[in-house]
Amino acid sequence: QTAEIGVSGLATMGRNLARNLARHGHTVALHNRTAKRTRDLAENFADEGTFVPAESAEEFVRSLERPRRIILMVPAGKATDAVIDEFTPLLEQGDVIIDAGNAHFADTRRREKALSDMGLNFVGMGVSGGEEGALNGPSIMPGGPAEAYESLGPLLEDISAKVDGQPCCTHIGADGAGHFVKMVHNGIEYADMQLIAEAYDLLRQGLGMDPAAIAETFTGWNQGRLDSYLIEITSEVLAHADAETGKPFVDVVADEAEQKGTGRWTVQAALDLGVPVTGIAEATFARSLSGNRTLRDAARSLPGVSGARLEGAAAEGFADDIEQALYASKIVAYAQGFNEIQAGAEEYGWTIDLGRVASIWRGGCIIRAKFLEEITAAYEREPKLTTLLTDSSFVEAIGGAQDSWRRVVASAAQLGIPTPGFSSALAYYDGIRAERLPAALVQGQRDFFGAHTYRRTDRDGTFHTAWATDDRAESEA
Ligand code: NDP
Repeated sequence: QTAEIGVSGLATMGRNLARNLARHGHTVALHNRTAKRTRDLAENFADEGTFVPAESAEEFVRSLERPRRIILMVPAGKATDAVIDEFTPLLEQGDVIIDAGNAHFADTRRREKALSDMGLNFVGMGVSGGEEGALNGPSIMPGGPAEAYESLGPLLEDISAKVDGQPCCTHIGADGAGHFVKMVHNGIEYADMQLIAEAYDLLRQGLGMDPAAIAETFTGWNQGRLDSYLIEITSEVLAHADAETGKPFVDVVADEAEQKGTGRWTVQAALDLGVPVTGIAEATFARSLSGNRTLRDAARSLPGVSGARLEGAAAEGFADDIEQALYASKIVAYAQGFNEIQAGAEEYGWTIDLGRVASIWRGGCIIRAKFLEEITAAYEREPKLTTLLTDSSFVEAIGGAQDSWRRVVASAAQLGIPTPGFSSALAYYDGIRAERLPAALVQGQRDFFGAHTYRRTDRDGTFHTAWATDDRAESEA
């Protein structure tokens, strides 16, 4: 029997993606380095559809209809290269390899180039939604050649999440565009999670609420504009009691956040592109800080405010202020992330429809949220928007949230509660709207110690001041 599509790498993600394809009536060839996983999947889920298990790469490739379509679901890096090297000698002109792992976009660009030189199509594809999404409908971000998407698209759209009948899958752009957008998605996810965590910390420490009450607050927020998967699961995590001790679950978990690296990649790429993604950077550093036990132990007894909370009139309305601060900071984080996608597209020559990106994140993925509709609408109003923050709907939202946002950041500082996400988002907002920035002074310093020159506000040209001489004359450099 010939299969429509094949999946190689049948751990959690690959297995669920293969089952999702089979459940949608597609015949799926199966392959895994260790054949036992292949057999187990074909046997245990035979009732879900038609699987064609293969013990070897050769058998797997033979079982596929042409042009062959092979989805790889293995760890990014060396494993992905190893599997590609195993398959390429067995493939023919026009066949398609789809890397659905979390590859770095630069690797995807390299692989696409190498495979297209061999006459093969390579599609780097971002998949979000974890194991549940892979099985029931993920958000899918395929890059690679547009021709490959023509034959692949219908199949991918079929198994993706749907929102209002629209598939959460679109061709993002050439070569590494899909993985780049998936990377930024994960970066935004870091920022969103950090902001939610700061809101929790302020409610807990600043107002003295217990986790169960905070869970209810988040459930309430989830009925409004913050309606999102991350807020929903936050309520569930906070309402959960540890089975063993009966204590709130959050109180028995070590407060050291881990990371697999996509947040770091997002920040590294942003540094290279010169895009200030302060929300994602602060979220990534907040995880590093939390995990640095040595540093935290050394600093534990440093002087400062601790255990202080707002009381009486000061506490009144503070929870609502936090909701406003959370929403405003979230808008900033997303605006920064979309700017990174814009800059990446410019740098690497991709044509990316930003409104469409927001719309395929509405379902299936971890950052799925009602709010993404606003982003799509903003880019529909103005596709070349410099920043989402100047779109009328966000101007209004931040205008309304602003006083609360400032109160929250100021109170957090006074209470000694760290809010790197909220604070940096506000600093970014004030930074981009400032009439004059102290960067003028920085330019003066640079010219002083390194003769790096400066430009003037009143005249064109490049200038240097003779700092070392008494009269300190300005001259055109
Ligand atoms: P893992 O990343 O744990 O990968 C395990 C699979 O890869 C197994 O099938 C394993 O085969 C195979 N494998 C590992 N090394 C090699 C190698 N050198 N040669 C051949 N096969 C190899 O599985 P996941 O399902 O968690 O993730 C798969 C991919 O999906 C990763 O790139 C991940 O980043 C990405 N991803 C994961 C998400 C998640 O929520 N987990 C979400 C979105 C993307 P064997 O059985 O023989 O060991």
